Amino acid sequence: MPKSLPARWRRRLPVPAALAAATAVVLLVSPASATAPDAAAPADSGPVAGEPANVVEVLLAGTAELDALVATGVDLDHHVERSENGVVAHAVLTPSEAARLTAAGFTLGDVLHRPEDARARVEERESTIAAHLAENREFAAAAADPTAPDVSDIKIIRADYYTSGASQVLSVEAKWAQGQTASNTLTVERDSGTGTAIGSGGTQTISRFVDAGVYLYHRGASSVTSRPDRIRITSPTGDVAEVKVQEWLPTPETSPEGPGYQKDFVTSYLTPTELYARIHQLAAEFPNLAEIVELPYKTNGYRRHAQAVLGSANASRVAVDSLAWGHQGGNDISVELVNPGVGNAALAVTVSGKTIRVALGTDGAGAVTSTAAEVVAALNAVAGSLVKAYTYRGSPGGGVVAPAARTLLTDDLSAPASVSRDPQPVYAIRIGKVRDGSRPGVLAYAQEHAREWVPPLVTVETAERLLRNYAHDGQTKQLLNNLDIWIAPSVNPDGGHYSFYDFNSQRKNMTNHCPSTGAADFLGRDSWGVDNNRNYTEYSLFDGYSGASSSCTSGTYAGPSELSEPENRNLDWLAARPNIKFSMNLHSSGNYFMWSPGAYALPDRISAPRPTLAEESAFWGASSRILTAIKQHRNMAVTPARTGPISDVLYSAAGNSGDMLWYKYGIYAWNFEVGTSFQPDWEEAHSEAMEFSNGLVELMRVARDFAKDHTRPKSTLTVAPSSTPDMVNVTFGVSEPASVFYTLDGATPTYSSTLYGSAGIREGGETLTIPAGTRINWFSVDSAGNVENNYTPDGSGKNYRKGQAVLPTS
Ligand SMILES: [Zn+2]
Repeated sequence: MPKSLPARWRRRLPVPAALAAATAVVLLVSPASATAPDAAAPADSGPVAGEPANVVEVLLAGTAELDALVATGVDLDHHVERSENGVVAHAVLTPSEAARLTAAGFTLGDVLHRPEDARARVEERESTIAAHLAENREFAAAAADPTAPDVSDIKIIRADYYTSGASQVLSVEAKWAQGQTASNTLTVERDSGTGTAIGSGGTQTISRFVDAGVYLYHRGASSVTSRPDRIRITSPTGDVAEVKVQEWLPTPETSPEGPGYQKDFVTSYLTPTELYARIHQLAAEFPNLAEIVELPYKTNGYRRHAQAVLGSANASRVAVDSLAWGHQGGNDISVELVNPGVGNAALAVTVSGKTIRVALGTDGAGAVTSTAAEVVAALNAVAGSLVKAYTYRGSPGGGVVAPAARTLLTDDLSAPASVSRDPQPVYAIRIGKVRDGSRPGVLAYAQEHAREWVPPLVTVETAERLLRNYAHDGQTKQLLNNLDIWIAPSVNPDGGHYSFYDFNSQRKNMTNHCPSTGAADFLGRDSWGVDNNRNYTEYSLFDGYSGASSSCTSGTYAGPSELSEPENRNLDWLAARPNIKFSMNLHSSGNYFMWSPGAYALPDRISAPRPTLAEESAFWGASSRILTAIKQHRNMAVTPARTGPISDVLYSAAGNSGDMLWYKYGIYAWNFEVGTSFQPDWEEAHSEAMEFSNGLVELMRVARDFAKDHTRPKSTLTVAPSSTPDMVNVTFGVSEPASVFYTLDGATPTYSSTLYGSAGIREGGETLTIPAGTRINWFSVDSAGNVENNYTPDGSGKNYRKGQAVLPTS
């Protein structure tokens, strides 16, 4: 398992003494201003030319201090994090600005980003570009030599034929040396079957796949009328590549489901409450095979404070929130803004029970004069034990308010009383004959995204298939006797309930992290929440990676900090079970099947580390089994173009759970994007649940086979001519997904020797160009730890593989 994982990019550095120390700087902001937001900003608080600026945490006791910080005119980053301990803001500060803030009574925290960090990133970027250009120059120069035996400027990476539904499809991926700079499409010529002429089956074009400005490869799929055997691509410079077409997901001859295998247990969409009830029933019915585990963190709950926004123009709007939760009395509170109908009336608030009446102030002519800011202040002063009032989204509130009829505050939650308003326990069902951690573990979890209603059905259907077939199906018995299976059907139940009963497009959890100067008011309620699939710890927004937002209303809001949410801490707890080796994160939609890396940093698409060639090969091998099982239900093929690393085939998703499971815990972590939409009609939802449950059960079989794999890999060495004088091209082949470690200096190979790598994204093994006659020592090892020839790679063994880089004589 990939436990030798790279250190995280993030660095949190203590504040350098020189930066924190106050130098002889005039005190420009008086400490008193910390409670006086209107204090004038110092006239000369701008940066001093030539000074470096750092991103620094400013630790604040509360909103008043934040207001005072804003009033100093300091350059604030977008990041403002609120917790019960106060507020942390990120400011861009020069040393003299930092000193002024310290002298003014502000507390500075860690330095998060310094000019040298940016320089390191720029250097990383420059070297990536340089490496890319060098690669392209080499490729182009070699391709320009018509006598070169080993290079073409065009390389076909994949050529896959498959059936899907009633169609036949040919999918092609190819890499062209000029792809970074030239925008040409490429033309693929097909034959019409074994032994026929190239071109007889027609042609199709494939186009560039460019992401974040970096050319990856050309790709495209077209319908065909017969299965081609070979394809050819002639590049715009006249170079030619030709390969045999592979069949993607061929129909297997035998079904792994024995006679009498039972399936098809879901009959309707299920809410989180119903999903939990279902797994509780199953565990009660099969007490020897399953148990319910309550995960350690309750969610914040399907609940909100009762709210209202009175008025229509932003400057004159008054936002009111109950202090109590809506269901605990907040929904009984009402607020009324009344024109007293007399001249020279003073603004007055009266509270009778839960009825709040605001008599607005008037001028001599009887016109209302109270501003939103004045009404807010009066409400907080008189009704502060019931409600908190604030001006709308950071407005100073200078507009005169309009009278408003009596308005009931509301949490606006519509679920029936059977849905608890309390913090929600989150449940998983643990399935297996032996559940003591001694068996290899498999984890499946769904509904990180609330509106994705089909994935939870896949998980409960799978749980039920495993339990109901145990007694009579030998294959299923093998799985449950040898695996420790954890299934969490809904990890975001609050969002799930909200999606079913209130706002079907809800993606995130329900926690409101917006400040009262932002979108915390009643009108912002459908935009709150943290994207649980962006709040994890590896290659996250907080580490500088792309595809997540710091805005509390964004669909991909990463939260105030990593693992800030109980939903995420629960999954981190599950993944930390030491026996878990495989996982499936179930989402919808799009019919994707993906693995790490799931994120890159911009600019230049610097990816989280790629799996090794052997790991990538293991991913592809298991993928074809799982996707073939899915296809057996109704011939729906997940395409090759939608199979692969998340950041290659979909987009960057900083801080996603798959990456945490792979990089932090070494779990082979996959992701399904089930089906065609979030909430399809039932007939379609049912088919999707059936087909992806086939795939999830197949993942259990992959895990079982991994656990009983005692077969040692075998490897081969191939030597081919090189265009470079006195050199040869060397490649390794393996009999199953396995890593090759090698030496070229006669030394004994160990796990510290060079690891044979990949030629590039979605390509096979690299070609080593080395001096003819070089001695090569190597061994291969599979992911279950079986070593070729029973060799012990500790430097003392002798039975490693030995060879020499000489061309075979013909
Ligand atoms: Zn999703």
